Amino acid sequence: MTIRLSRQFSFGKHQRLERRLPPPVFFSPQNINLILTPAPLFSTDKCILMRVSIIFLSVVLLTVTTPSFSQEYDILLTDGKIIDGSGNSWFYGDVGIKDGKIVAIGKLSADKATTILNIKGLIIAPGFIDVHTHIEGNSLTVPTAGNFIHDGVTSVVTGNCGSSNGDLVRYFEQLDSVKTSINVATLIGHNTVRRIVMGDSQRDPSAEEQNSMEELVAKAMREGAVGFSTGLIYVPGTFSKTPEVIGLAKAAARYNGVYASHIRDEGDDVTSAIEEAINIGRQAKIPVEISHFKVTYKPNWGRSVNTLAQVEKARHEGIDVTVDQYPYVASSTTLNTVLPTWVFSGGNDSLMFRLKNPSIRKKITNEMVERLKEKKLKNFSYAVVARYGADTTLNGKNISDINTIKGRKPKAPEEAETILEMVENGSAQMVFFSMNEADLKNIMQYPYNMFASDAGIVRFGSGVPHPRAYGTNARVLGHYVRELKVITLEEAIRRMTSLPAQKFQLRDRGLIRESMAADIVVFDENLVGDLSTFDKPHVFSAGFRYVLVNGELVIENGNHTGTRSGAVLRGPGYRATK
Ligand SMILES: [Zn+2]
Repeated sequence: MTIRLSRQFSFGKHQRLERRLPPPVFFSPQNINLILTPAPLFSTDKCILMRVSIIFLSVVLLTVTTPSFSQEYDILLTDGKIIDGSGNSWFYGDVGIKDGKIVAIGKLSADKATTILNIKGLIIAPGFIDVHTHIEGNSLTVPTAGNFIHDGVTSVVTGNCGSSNGDLVRYFEQLDSVKTSINVATLIGHNTVRRIVMGDSQRDPSAEEQNSMEELVAKAMREGAVGFSTGLIYVPGTFSKTPEVIGLAKAAARYNGVYASHIRDEGDDVTSAIEEAINIGRQAKIPVEISHFKVTYKPNWGRSVNTLAQVEKARHEGIDVTVDQYPYVASSTTLNTVLPTWVFSGGNDSLMFRLKNPSIRKKITNEMVERLKEKKLKNFSYAVVARYGADTTLNGKNISDINTIKGRKPKAPEEAETILEMVENGSAQMVFFSMNEADLKNIMQYPYNMFASDAGIVRFGSGVPHPRAYGTNARVLGHYVRELKVITLEEAIRRMTSLPAQKFQLRDRGLIRESMAADIVVFDENLVGDLSTFDKPHVFSAGFRYVLVNGELVIENGNHTGTRSGAVLRGPGYRATK
């Protein structure tokens, strides 16, 4: 006779699923614990004797009965259309999961499963890997990561654009103790290490400072970073020259890291900015990931044909260059990027000093207006406020509107003045409408492009974030795959799973294969889609029925279970030292 215990009884999770198991009839290890700890009813000697006998008896019983508790699969997904992440066509099959891993694929016996989920007609795919995120801010305070998990994302790479946590040992400990719903890997950021060593100075590092920065990168790699990131439009990274970055990239390369770059320019100078990233890959012998690949502002629209050719040429030369993209024509970053970078040299006090000096202030607004003209724009209406702490009633409004609200004339220099005022009052997070659809689709069709949100964990309902935080993957699968047929479903899944896993060396993820981690998404290909918009961003994506992270159900019937089964994914430098 086989006695089976339900998972509900023995491990206390996931009770609301279809089950074929009888109710619990026997005891579990937890019950034994209860037996082992009654209040002492006897004298000490007798009590000890009694306890020893109970322990002995229990161990015997446990040994005899344990095999019958253990099912072959904790969860069995049956009758799905499996898209395995390789890019191959879908096929019908069941997927068996045990102890956080995929253990079997094919026609599997339902009798051997604790929990059975019949997903007839739905797609089973590997959990999506978002290689370009910024989750430092909320990873410990909003560990359920709803915006990611409802979009099918089970793993993220954070620390992008040069900005990461500086103390990875501590950050990983915090993540390990809080436990997030998603797996987390991180890069070590250039701006982070530069600021530690040199503050916000606008100059080259001394040899000693260069060494210190390289040592910080190397240390982070040993601690588990998956690579090194730059944000070369941001302070202080923007003050660096290429040799500095090559030195730091070499430090990451020693530990098999990746170099991920927010390049120096995505507009007029995009070609030389890409060339710099490629050259860093060439010199430092490191794989390159060009972040949020795009061409911005109207005079540059159409240039994606050339920039992709540039990437392809580097690949032919043998440099491992790949790119990522968010599927929206608006970008999102701080309002500070509208000002010339020299304004930020030396940190906040220097910034405030410059803004208070009328002649320097005039010079700044002149440069801003000049740059606007170069972009062939008449005003700053392309810039929309996502979050302005000093006055939240301005969230969602563009700079031209705000300028009018402030009672200024609708002219570019006046709008520049409005921007400076906002920077003085703590600055704002912005959305910039600067790309076009043809480039976006062209980049989407590039086989070595992956999809990435460039977002953080969003506190539901708070602020006006870029909709990519909620809908990146669903938008690709719904809008671009199903509606516009820009790429196939299998190809989209490959770019969301095995391609990022390969690039960032997440060796046991990104494919539906035996022995891989059971990070899995189950979705309806006819319903999947993004619902988050620029006006109303706080809406989860539709169509994801189940999401499993390390074999545990985080989304069940479309709802977050509260389960936080994500793990820290430490990189190759850490693994090599273990
Ligand atoms: Zn960036």
